[in-house]
Amino acid sequence: MADNKIIDGKLIADTIKKEIAAEVAGMIDKGEGAPHLAAVIVGEDGASLTYVASKERACRSVGMISSVYRLSAKASEEEVLNTINFLNNDPEIDGFIVQLPMPKHINETKVIQSISPDKDVDGFTLHNIGLMQLGEPCFLPATPFGILEMLKRSNVEVAGKHVVVLGRSNIVGTPISVMLSRKGVDATVSICHSRTKNLEEITRQADILVVAIGKPEFVKADMVKEGAVVIDVGINRIEDNSEKGYHIVGDVDYKEVYKKASMITPVPGGVGPMTIVSLLHNTLLAAKKRK
Ligand code: NDP
Repeated sequence: MADNKIIDGKLIADTIKKEIAAEVAGMIDKGEGAPHLAAVIVGEDGASLTYVASKERACRSVGMISSVYRLSAKASEEEVLNTINFLNNDPEIDGFIVQLPMPKHINETKVIQSISPDKDVDGFTLHNIGLMQLGEPCFLPATPFGILEMLKRSNVEVAGKHVVVLGRSNIVGTPISVMLSRKGVDATVSICHSRTKNLEEITRQADILVVAIGKPEFVKADMVKEGAVVIDVGINRIEDNSEKGYHIVGDVDYKEVYKKASMITPVPGGVGPMTIVSLLHNTLLAAKKRK
């Protein structure tokens, strides 16, 4: 029997994938062609290669076209910028992502900001960040968008609730804080970071706790209010003796916090699948705009 306490990101993502696949099939039937997502990857970082491969699989599973532009770790910044320029101008590509991190000799900000805002399906360009801030239609960053969708589809009431966000990164903590406090979503948001004093006192006030700090099992049961909803964004590799050589844990001590929470996301199988599906959502949006 399904455990109603667990917010099953994989299940929700599978439902959304079916919805997207139906829309893609409709576009193909109308002769508009399938949406096309490209990814640029520079170097051979293991985790990045895994992420890009799973994005490719997800694309194909909903009938989208996916292509990957692989550049060597020694590629110059100019070569990367030329690839971005090519993708910006290729009418066959609806949207693309640049997998981070990139090798140190490349200025990531310069590369990301050279992406055309119309194809910026990660929502990382200043143009899309600005629109998000204003609450205007735009490509919302995938992980925060996935979290909002997950809360909505799990019938978690957000309006008027106190949400505490742990972490203030540009890709998760900061945008989710903005998006949750916007008119229409209406949460009251506190943002915590590594310089926050009396962290536990603040986290214990959270009706909804969103954790994105990258510290394995950092949040313990005594940091959580009885009945809180806990969203664990963390993905931390812990080395072990298994065939793979590691397993994944979140930023929350799941076993202990589960007992106290009213709802909680597992890791893996929580926020991760929602992030990928949000990227597909944005690609569909880009393709619809183009067509
Ligand atoms: P970053 O490393 O960019 O940011 C971490 C944030 O956590 C910083 O704001 C930092 O504060 C804060 N922080 C660090 N230690 C503490 C602490 N002890 N107490 C309070 N705050 C602290 O991380 P990301 O946002 O990129 O990623 C966070 C986690 O989420 C990682 O495990 C990552 O792998 C995962 N992730 C998962 C995704 C998914 O799809 N599920 C997508 C993206 C990320 P300060 O600013 O002061 O340094």
